[in-house]
Amino acid sequence: MKIKNRHKFIKNLIAPCLMCSMKNKFGLVLEKSKLKPPFLILANHTTDYDAFFVAGAFKCPIYFVMSDHVSSIPVAGKLVKFFVRPLPITKSSLDAGVVREIISVVNQGGAVGIFPEGNKSFAGDMSYIKPTIAKLAKKLNIPVVLFHIEGGYFSQPRWSKTKRKAKIHAYVNEVISPKELEQLSIDEVYNRIVDGIRINAYEVQEKEALHFYGKKIAEGIETMLYACPECGAIGTIRSKDDRFWCSACGDSCTYLDNGHIVGGKFDRLDEWDRWQKNHILDLNLNKRQNDEVILHDPNWIVLEKINKYKNKKLGTYETFLFTDRLLIANKKSRIEIPIPNIVGIGIEGTCGLQISCSDNRVFRLKNVAPVSALKYANFIWTIQNKTIRF
Ligand SMILES: [Zn+2]
Repeated sequence: MKIKNRHKFIKNLIAPCLMCSMKNKFGLVLEKSKLKPPFLILANHTTDYDAFFVAGAFKCPIYFVMSDHVSSIPVAGKLVKFFVRPLPITKSSLDAGVVREIISVVNQGGAVGIFPEGNKSFAGDMSYIKPTIAKLAKKLNIPVVLFHIEGGYFSQPRWSKTKRKAKIHAYVNEVISPKELEQLSIDEVYNRIVDGIRINAYEVQEKEALHFYGKKIAEGIETMLYACPECGAIGTIRSKDDRFWCSACGDSCTYLDNGHIVGGKFDRLDEWDRWQKNHILDLNLNKRQNDEVILHDPNWIVLEKINKYKNKKLGTYETFLFTDRLLIANKKSRIEIPIPNIVGIGIEGTCGLQISCSDNRVFRLKNVAPVSALKYANFIWTIQNKTIRF
């Protein structure tokens, strides 16, 4: 990436108008920073517009490292592409090519922004952060700015179909100096980063007690809540308006505009999510028979990636997860992927699943119904004895 005067020009000319509209749209309260580049900004990730909240807090242009999937988001994606010039990565991997781009921007005196979680939060708590971010921070040896975006999660929960009236507060939480980076070990830098950008939306709510008004505020919640705490069933939650229930046992809950739940076992989504992750472990998936279907969903539009920019549409398929394989099948064809051959899983938006295979094939599955793509990621990681990342 070559830093161009055009970037500064766009920033100075358009930023004030854009930020004005962001302030109206998101109730944005920005704390401006006077820090001069080069520096590396690391921020928590809650909405499609997070890059604007970060960019608005600094005078210089910021070069963001972003998933190539972001550019395909209708409005936010195009704005991001034009305004913040993303350095594209394929689903959350800081590969050698991206690191070279980052170093090039920094060597030209530019500022780089990264959302180390790589994914927007589903349950309001932070997602797993890969330790490679600490290595990169030490390697660059420039100030590391740890940035907070509060209020984003409840304004636009990742599982939701609707937006709420937002109240977002964005600010620099702390800065790690190059001198400190030199003195700290990679593990210490990692812990400092994780602690410094960590936001749990429910913990912020304990202090702020805000209301996020909107319509149909529970709809889509089944894309995140895939297990019922009452009966243990998987994929049985349904939602309408501000209510959701289990179609297996009938247990029913209401989602409130402060993000809390009434009527169920848990009153917070992050607590429910912690429970359902443990519930997958209790299912002892590795002891199941190979022909037992663990998960099944119809109506996936399946694409295969041809290269970084192109996909080929394969058709409409059903998915069947067994303990030893993921079967993607319709009447005409079958794609069978042994579980050990799944080397990468990404969630695209709410109901999209990206599966990378050891033979370099990449499949993108999209479902129009509110189906939990998240449960496939979490079940497959559990079968593989890996950490659940979202
Ligand atoms: Zn149930």
